[in-house]
Amino acid sequence: MSAEGVNIQKELNPLANAERQFEEAASRLKLPPGIKEVVKRPRRSTIVSLPVQMDDGTFRVFTGYRVQHSIVRGPAKGGIRYHPQVTLDEVEALAAWMTWKCAVVNIPFGGGKGGIICDPERMSKGELERLTRRYAADLSDLFGPESDVPAPDVNTNEQVMAWIVDTYSMHERRTEYAVVTGKPLEVGGSAGRREATGRGLLFCVRGACAHLGIPLQGARVAVQGFGNVGSVSADLLTRDGAKIVAVADASGAVQRAEGLDIAALLRWAADHRGVAGFPGGKPLTTPIVETDCDILIPAALENQITQENAARVRARIVAEGANGPTTPDADQILEQKQVFVIPDILCNSGGVTVSYFEWVQNRMGLYWPEREVNDRLEHTMVHAFGDVLAKSVEHRVNMRVAAFMVAIERVVKVIMLRGLYA
Ligand code: NAD
Repeated sequence: MSAEGVNIQKELNPLANAERQFEEAASRLKLPPGIKEVVKRPRRSTIVSLPVQMDDGTFRVFTGYRVQHSIVRGPAKGGIRYHPQVTLDEVEALAAWMTWKCAVVNIPFGGGKGGIICDPERMSKGELERLTRRYAADLSDLFGPESDVPAPDVNTNEQVMAWIVDTYSMHERRTEYAVVTGKPLEVGGSAGRREATGRGLLFCVRGACAHLGIPLQGARVAVQGFGNVGSVSADLLTRDGAKIVAVADASGAVQRAEGLDIAALLRWAADHRGVAGFPGGKPLTTPIVETDCDILIPAALENQITQENAARVRARIVAEGANGPTTPDADQILEQKQVFVIPDILCNSGGVTVSYFEWVQNRMGLYWPEREVNDRLEHTMVHAFGDVLAKSVEHRVNMRVAAFMVAIERVVKVIMLRGLYA
């Protein structure tokens, strides 16, 4: 763990937090009796044992999960996480957040998530490929363009998605690209997908700045996590005139009051496996979450802003790139401090939005130029931000409660129209 204050508190259960967020929003809606339970629970949770032969000839059995939280609005949609501490509770929470996220941006997907307990840092490429293929083969009954469409998440990437496409396609006896998203461009990927989560976050931050009257030009930004989401967000915000005054990742943290050179930091991080030691800045001595800044972007893991440190957050806007970075207790403290939190299910939904565009393009066999993808993304995000802000103003609730209210209403509406099959 970084000395610079990424305080991962595994005792904080993301599932309990996701349920609390759901309850708070659902209790403000006039829902038909009993329907809350219907939409709250995961539709199906699957656990698989995955035997893999390691490079040294020994056999190991890994545990994998796939949770389909909801398929009410469309196929289950959500990434696959490879991490030594993955738990079923965590995957169920992440799957539920996907349901609400897809509903907030109003794309025709439900919610799902997957995970494998493994440490990719200690595995060879061949071992990771065999593990991935075994997982994809074992779950090929669940996966499919019309049923369940995985994507990358922490420690999985385009290459992992290409292996899943290949495994699934071998079983189907035909090439099927639309079974996963986040693929390499050459294997049915979409232009703009890699940057989509960070770009969506940028549109939300622009919306928040306009609402609060904070100029983005010159705004001071601190970023936790310098992977896909954190690094792209930092880069795009810099292009909009913001100053990235601090960046932390698993290796350490750096700061520069005049703004870090993000292009140089990206090159350094690629060559040195992290931001620590970057010569264009100084080591950050306070926890990144407590940095003096206008905009804080948690873009690493869950439970980073907690009851313990929320009072010391100095940002005026928290833009949640990560899933579940703020606990419900911390939310209350931030609200009292009038910090404007752009909740994860809205703020990082650019990724799943362009995943949807990728799936559409695969099914059409027609591929859009990046400008078209980005324009469609902006349209979707600006509408979603507007819907949530309007709900927040109308009901005098914070943006998280408002986002859940928008999402729950949309899911419940579909259930009521479709009726329950019995
Ligand atoms: P990534 O693996 O590319 O990057 C993760 C970053 O977090 C890395 O810089 C890593 O060093 C840092 N990190 C990990 N553990 C850390 C620790 N203990 N201390 C400090 N930093 C640590 O992952 P990503 O795709 O950027 O995802 C980050 C978050 O955003 C996750 O919560 C993920 O679920 C969420 N998210 C990602 C996408 C996407 O499209 N990639 C979409 C929506 C949400």
